Amino acid sequence: MTSPRVRFAPSPTGYLHVGGARTALFNWLYARHTGGSHILRIEDTDRERSTEEHTRVILDGLGWLGITWDEGPYFQGEYAARHQADAERILAEGKAYRCFCTREELDAQRAKAEAAGVGFRYDRRCMSLSPAETNRRMQAGSPSTIRFVMGDEEIAWEDAVHGRISFQGRDLDDFVILRSDNSAIYNLAVVSDDIAMRITHVIRGDDHISNTPKQIALYRALGQEHPVFAHVPMILGPDGKKLSKRHGATAVGDYQDQGMLPAAMRNFLALLGWSPGEDREILPEEEMVRLFTLDGIQKKSAVFDTTKLEWMNGQYLS
Ligand code: GLU
Repeated sequence: MTSPRVRFAPSPTGYLHVGGARTALFNWLYARHTGGSHILRIEDTDRERSTEEHTRVILDGLGWLGITWDEGPYFQGEYAARHQADAERILAEGKAYRCFCTREELDAQRAKAEAAGVGFRYDRRCMSLSPAETNRRMQAGSPSTIRFVMGDEEIAWEDAVHGRISFQGRDLDDFVILRSDNSAIYNLAVVSDDIAMRITHVIRGDDHISNTPKQIALYRALGQEHPVFAHVPMILGPDGKKLSKRHGATAVGDYQDQGMLPAAMRNFLALLGWSPGEDREILPEEEMVRLFTLDGIQKKSAVFDTTKLEWMNGQYLS
């Protein structure tokens, strides 16, 4: 078996959130535990919201927590040509089609679906365009996107955290993979990069579960096996709602500014949704690495308990 390759793939559109830091930590722990590689990939394709300042803050936060990487940082924006080539290959193989629908037409379709109380699904009107007609429109300079043909069959995977998860292809849309300016949509860029970087395990937040069937369909279209997926449960505030600024500081940098010890923060983050299977709270780095497994990640959401974090910081201080 080849040694695992995992990645942390933050979008530099904001500060380093504790949830992101925990995802990074789990990837790093998994790589260290297995003797694999941890790759850092900055997903800076959202040109309007990505900034160098955010990238710097993310790198600083990881550095402070002692989370290292073996390769990278790679910048997703540098692979735009490969993303486009992958989309065009899928198109050339008849697994996608050119779509000339304008935003207004799509909005109208969406409004119609809403009025009928059904979920929006692109009505495939461009799927039946003849090659000659497609060429004519291309030549005339009409903007077009590339849409993936989503089959009707079931898409299922064995999630390393949640067990079997399945979606029905017929409930999913023919989604756009390449915009009219030839930039890739998130799902394609991620799959293209994960294939190129030979990623074996995708460990990320479970807010990405709904993207996974589309990504698996893209792996298939590109003739590749998909990696193991491990979707890590959300972090909640003490009131059971998704952790947000209402609950207090959510940026790693805030804890750094408050004088929290990085080792305490790292220990605390590791136990947010992972358990070593022994009743232990204080885990030095080498212990964490030794005990970390994907099996130890819990299915249920973790609660961010500031009192516990402060207690842990006290333990590390003494
Ligand atoms: N860039 C994505 C995010 O920040 C993560 C993509 C992934 O892990 O697949 O949510």
